[in-house]
Amino acid sequence: MIQRLRVAVETPQHTGLGAPLDYESEYGLAPGTLVHVPLGRREVTGVVWPGAAGTDNPVVLKPVARALSALPPLGGAWCELVEFTAAYYQRGVGEVALSVLPPELRKLDDAQIANRIDKLQKKWASVEAVANTPARPDLSAEQSAVLGQLADLQREAAAPTVLLHGVTGSGKTEVYLRAAEDALAAGRQVLVLVPEINLTPQLEARFSERFAGRRIVSQHSGLTPAQRLRNWLASHLGLADLILGTRLAVFASMPRLGLIVVDEEHDPSYKQQEGARYSARDLAVYRGKREGVPVLLGSATPSLESWHRAREGRYARLALPARIGGGTLPKVRLVDMNQLPKTKGSMTAVSPALVSALQQRIERGEQSLVFLNRRGYAPVLHCGDCAWKSECAHCSAWRVFHKLDRTLRCHHCGFTERVPRACPDCGNLDIAPLGRGTERLEEQLAALLQSPDGKAARIARIDADSTRLKGSLEAQLGAVHAGDVDVLVGTQMVTKGHDFRRITLVAAVNPDSSLFSNDFRAPERLFALLMQAAGRAGRDAEHAARSEMWVQTWHPTHPLYAALRKHDFEAFAESQSKEREMAGLPPYSHLAMMRADARTPEAARGFLQAAAEIASGLPGADAVTVYPPVPLGIARVADVERMQMLVESPSRGALQRFLVQWLPHLHEVRHQRKDADQRILRWAVDVDPLAI
Ligand code: ADP
Ligand code: ZN
Ligand code: ZN
Repeated sequence: MIQRLRVAVETPQHTGLGAPLDYESEYGLAPGTLVHVPLGRREVTGVVWPGAAGTDNPVVLKPVARALSALPPLGGAWCELVEFTAAYYQRGVGEVALSVLPPELRKLDDAQIANRIDKLQKKWASVEAVANTPARPDLSAEQSAVLGQLADLQREAAAPTVLLHGVTGSGKTEVYLRAAEDALAAGRQVLVLVPEINLTPQLEARFSERFAGRRIVSQHSGLTPAQRLRNWLASHLGLADLILGTRLAVFASMPRLGLIVVDEEHDPSYKQQEGARYSARDLAVYRGKREGVPVLLGSATPSLESWHRAREGRYARLALPARIGGGTLPKVRLVDMNQLPKTKGSMTAVSPALVSALQQRIERGEQSLVFLNRRGYAPVLHCGDCAWKSECAHCSAWRVFHKLDRTLRCHHCGFTERVPRACPDCGNLDIAPLGRGTERLEEQLAALLQSPDGKAARIARIDADSTRLKGSLEAQLGAVHAGDVDVLVGTQMVTKGHDFRRITLVAAVNPDSSLFSNDFRAPERLFALLMQAAGRAGRDAEHAARSEMWVQTWHPTHPLYAALRKHDFEAFAESQSKEREMAGLPPYSHLAMMRADARTPEAARGFLQAAAEIASGLPGADAVTVYPPVPLGIARVADVERMQMLVESPSRGALQRFLVQWLPHLHEVRHQRKDADQRILRWAVDVDPLAI
């Protein structure tokens, strides 16, 4: 008996086809089965999709070529998660399905997959699940209260979404561990999401220590394809108990899922920036609801979206307002840069008061962290005679001066050249760096600070440049933990998550630029970053009382800094919410960003204008506002001109219904624009965009 079925395959985006395609098969294939099917002249991997194939299909369907029957089918809940993602973020079902499965699955045949599964079951069978009796701290009163409330919520609602708002060092991780312990004891799997791959080893260590004998696997982009497949299989087969990973892990196939934890839920890295631009945080919430499991969103500085939902009562808010052991949060000191004497040159980058505070730490044998969100030596090189600047030939951006290897590097397209000996325009030999990055900060601090024995202070720098080699980040963090470093200089990489014990001073050298950004979320991100950074200081109760956070600013009276001084997230969230409400911005409205890339700004703009014209004629157009096209902040990158157009609606549903109608037309618009000077390279829509 021939069976007609739907198969989700990756169809080329420009065709606009997103739904699964119909095939036939003579084997009874269950939904969720991996198959190989013919598509055009190729054979591709696909997933047999739930739901019936079209019955009025008159044509003879192509047969499924092969089924990978060694692999147990993907579950119905997994398929629904993928289908929801595709629909919500306006992409193809097959595209999403295949992009979140390990790539190795497409390469292996049935026998090879059977072999991998076999190996894993040998391996895991020998691991004895030890009943866990590890050393664990007695819960603080606040932690007990939070866990009690969590248990109550679970009794009432089975699948609550909980916003765990706890200051840095308040013991949120311990709450995750206890909640995980309960889920594991009930025979369930636990999914823990973290924003950064760099934070996975640290958290993995904490979970492995606590759950000795439990099977813990990680899922992130740093794994080899073979490791990724192995870990994915372990989770899919139900062998692994705990899955720890970055945003992609939200799609882990987990037949016994019992709890989802999203750590640092506000972190922008949970949003995928290409293909299906999904938010793993939001999908985690959807998944929890769909599968009836609780979701714990943890943060010291929740996103305004989550904060708003908690206020509306859609999420339960649980709070850990104090640090473990009664440690106080660092005292915040603002350095008013306007008060500094105007000296020529660069030494004012670090105020004299901050230099002596750093020196004092060194003399006491304590550590400091100084951060600046700009790597390289100086953001631009400049000729004083003719005003030449180190522009990138391919981007509307400056190339950054890297002194260590004497290069000018574009941080957007990678274009790199040796630093010229003289000004390329006028021959002036005296070209000078303007501004500063972490390399220069490191150099300046080394010149200014000394250790008590008269030698130079020990300064380490952690940023994307200094950690390029595998293992170098671990080595440098190790040196900090071992006390072999006096001052750690770094980009925001060092502000997240790390549990430094001896840091008593954290300084933000130049954070002002985000205060006046065009992106309405810039203040929210800055506040979160500074609170996170502050959280690196005084984590040891012994030092907490004298720990400090220094902020050098030209705008010391800004309300953001006023809230920071009081560590008052709520005050900050309130004032931001009011501004957003008045301006009609999220969470009080819903956005989609339509983007177009082309060789000329005119072509990109023309496409968006044509799209806007179509939009105005669609039913439901009155429920959305389409704003005029504007160039991105950095308009040209790698010779591509980038334009965007904001679409806004007070209703999420109305926005969704509008997008579904609108986007199919855009494939046509693109094809109608045949003249070379009208053509665009690509377009894409970003639903709930994070960076505007
Ligand atoms: P957060 O995740 O909120 O920043 P952590 O969970 O990392 O905080 O906890 C901060 C520190 O306090 C860690 O070193 C942790 O081991 C410790 N800690 C957490 N809970 C307890 C507890 N109940 N008793 C003693 N120490 C604790
Ligand atoms: Zn010049
Ligand atoms: Zn460039």
